[in-house]
Amino acid sequence: MITYPFQYKRASSVADAVGMLADGGKALSGGHSLIPTMKLRLNAPDVLVDVGRLPELKGISVDGSELVIGAGVTHGAIAASDLVKKHLPMFATGASQIGDPSVRNRGTIGGSIAHADPSADWPAMIIAADATIVMQGPSGTRKVKAEQFFTGLFSTALHENELITQIRVPLHDGAKMTYQKFSQPASRYAIVGCAVVKSADGKLRVAFSGVSEAPFRDKKAEEQLSSGQPAEAAAGMSILSDHYASEEYRKHLANVYLNRALAAVA
Ligand SMILES: Cc1cc2nc3c(=O)[nH]c(=O)nc-3n(C[C@H](O)[C@H](O)[C@H](O)COP(=O)(O)OP(=O)(O)OC[C@H]3O[C@@H](n4cnc5c(N)ncnc54)[C@H](O)[C@@H]3O)c2cc1C
Repeated sequence: MITYPFQYKRASSVADAVGMLADGGKALSGGHSLIPTMKLRLNAPDVLVDVGRLPELKGISVDGSELVIGAGVTHGAIAASDLVKKHLPMFATGASQIGDPSVRNRGTIGGSIAHADPSADWPAMIIAADATIVMQGPSGTRKVKAEQFFTGLFSTALHENELITQIRVPLHDGAKMTYQKFSQPASRYAIVGCAVVKSADGKLRVAFSGVSEAPFRDKKAEEQLSSGQPAEAAAGMSILSDHYASEEYRKHLANVYLNRALAAVA
């Protein structure tokens, strides 16, 4: 299936891209989610603004107590980064389990977060790791915590005229962390993905992808665990049901993968 005709523009900088988004353009990064939706006519932007080669969106660095990942960094580059392996090993192993080599070599963390597929892997990981999303728009820079960023099915706090520029993650030195997923066997999207970060002082942060319409931090499970009770995953959440997994089976998987994640950080 081919797309309808559209205009392609390559941005020369973040400021240039933001200007083009204000004129109605849509950001194109790795194209691994946007182009398929255009082919299926689920999305029909007239102007694509290519931000995939902007040096400002590349690079992984440490800034004070945070690891800073450019929105245009590919899943593959995150999986291979020594800085990520040292400070956020869950991100390296999680990234290495996304799709296949061509998806990992083209797809970007910023594109995945902006797209907000309920089964995407990054959302659970960045929520559990208490990351902050940095966005640039016509009136400047805005920051939103990952926990508040995902607002519904394919919906986020990102405005249409904003570009995600960075994902900033506390270094979590001394913490244990893991991302465990039950993958769709062909695409490797998470039918259920559970990320757990256990800080050096034993506090747990639990987040899920794939389970509900939007990824979420499971505060109820965290509370149960902190009071020494067995945790029930996704208690009170509305659970997805589709041809991959019924509501009942997904809920069961959420508990299985929560227990696997807890065992991994024990
Ligand atoms: C076969 C296949 C298997 C896959 N398997 C997995 C998997 O196992 N797990 C998983 O998590 N994902 C999977 N994906 C999705 C993949 O990770 C995509 O790369 C990702 O979802 C989108 O990133 P992208 O850079 O390709 O974004 P694009 O497709 O270029 O853009 C996606 C959306 O994000 C917007 N956008 C892009 N960059 C920015 C930015 N910097 N600021 C604001 N908006 C932006 C675009 O406007 C668009 O709306 C798979 C994809 C394919 C095709």
